[in-house]
Amino acid sequence: MQYVSTRATSASAARNPQHFSDILLGGLAPDGGLYLPEQYPQVTGAELDAWRTLSYAELAYEILRKFATDIPDADLKALTAKTYTPEVYRNARADESASQITPLRVLEQSPERTLILQGLSNGPTLAFKDMAMQLLGNLFEYALAKNGDELNIFGATSGDTGSAAEYAMRGKRGIRVFMLSPHKKMSAFQTAQMFSLQDPNIFNIAVEGVFDDCQDMVKAVSNDLEFKVRQKIGTVNSINWARVVAQVVYYFRGYLSATTSNDQKVSFTVPSGNFGNICAGHIARMMGLPIAKLVVATNENNVLDEFFRTGVYRVRKSSETYHTSSPSMDISKASNFERFVYDLVGRDADRTHALFRKVDTHGGFDLSGAPGSDGDEFNLVANYGFQSGCSTHEDRLATIRDVFDDYGITIDTHTADGIKVAREHVEPGVPMIVLETALAAKFNETILEALGTDAARPAGFEDIESLPQRFVVMQPNVAEMKQFIAAHTGLDK
Ligand SMILES: *Cc1c(COP(=O)(O)O)cnc(C)c1O
Repeated sequence: MQYVSTRATSASAARNPQHFSDILLGGLAPDGGLYLPEQYPQVTGAELDAWRTLSYAELAYEILRKFATDIPDADLKALTAKTYTPEVYRNARADESASQITPLRVLEQSPERTLILQGLSNGPTLAFKDMAMQLLGNLFEYALAKNGDELNIFGATSGDTGSAAEYAMRGKRGIRVFMLSPHKKMSAFQTAQMFSLQDPNIFNIAVEGVFDDCQDMVKAVSNDLEFKVRQKIGTVNSINWARVVAQVVYYFRGYLSATTSNDQKVSFTVPSGNFGNICAGHIARMMGLPIAKLVVATNENNVLDEFFRTGVYRVRKSSETYHTSSPSMDISKASNFERFVYDLVGRDADRTHALFRKVDTHGGFDLSGAPGSDGDEFNLVANYGFQSGCSTHEDRLATIRDVFDDYGITIDTHTADGIKVAREHVEPGVPMIVLETALAAKFNETILEALGTDAARPAGFEDIESLPQRFVVMQPNVAEMKQFIAAHTGLDK
């Protein structure tokens, strides 16, 4: 299995296909595109039948080995077995089984309407990013040990991604994490989750400023290529291919658990921001998983909903990007979207490159087929099963209340965006699986507003705010930031 960039021109002599291990630690391809397999591996009906009885870890192994063909099977099996355990994914609801890793809960079941919630948030940081990030931590440690190398992850977070990365990389040999966050701007829970880590390879840096200042710091430091190479700086952002492929697994698990035979179909609704999660659903479908629809759910930041309704992709300015009560979906452009567009335009890399160049120069593109548009591929979107919808803060409050009243469970704000949109798209005879992307305890402010009571916290999180915290406060100063990193990696000596 080899990988190509979505911008690798057919004309260029060196199309330069890469193996899984070559792209594991990287981000963008050198030409600015994203990596995808040359062809999607196909899954047969016989395989699907055989996979029905596998554990999550075994299923992850079967799917990953189709993509990571350059990692020896025995190693991959050990890595997936170590990652997907009931101990790591222990925060399932009291009446759900942690050994399921991503348990399904049937909310409604009738010939007209079947609505199912798939819990993806039972990992250490209570959000779905743990599903992929925990595997990434083990894959990184494995790959670095093989080459006797080390890696310093440098990133900025407003909450979910940074904590998922830290909990995945803590205690890992050869890896350090330097994570910037805006000083005193995260919720008390999120701050405590990150800053209570005492592992010597984790460095929490609270920056005097807002999230954009943190991101500017990361850009400035990464633009110094010489420093970046010497200090072995890397990232773990959502375009990382291994993260996407790890997420493919739970679409298979959800399908296999919700059906009894392969002639049945299911649909998925996915709370979406950077299009990473639902991109994995698209890949599962391209591999042959019988998915009827993939429904994109956004909040008020409806870049993706707009595209899937109209064919117009229009990225937002930061002044047009709203801070909402489902903050992990507050995006101005969807960084994984290029992977889908590449397939949509028939895997034409020149055309993909031209479209995303237009995103940089004109803020977007138009595939609606209207006079003067950039193409008419929007009429092919339905062939890929995509539909979409969006919701508002009022919708989230109403949905959290409804779900509590109707089914007796408390969902978080991102999952509420999913349920609201799923209800608009569920069809008779096709179970609709909504992906639960976080637990309610993480976004308690809105739960309190909706229900008048606090969200229950999983065991072990009761007093997290009172644990000792380990962090440094710094000014947004590039030179000081570089000094801090160099002092702690020791790589300049
Ligand atoms: C990151 C995140 C999302 C968005 O996922 P994408 O892969 O960026 O589409 C949704 N919900 C929660 C809770 C998240 O942390």
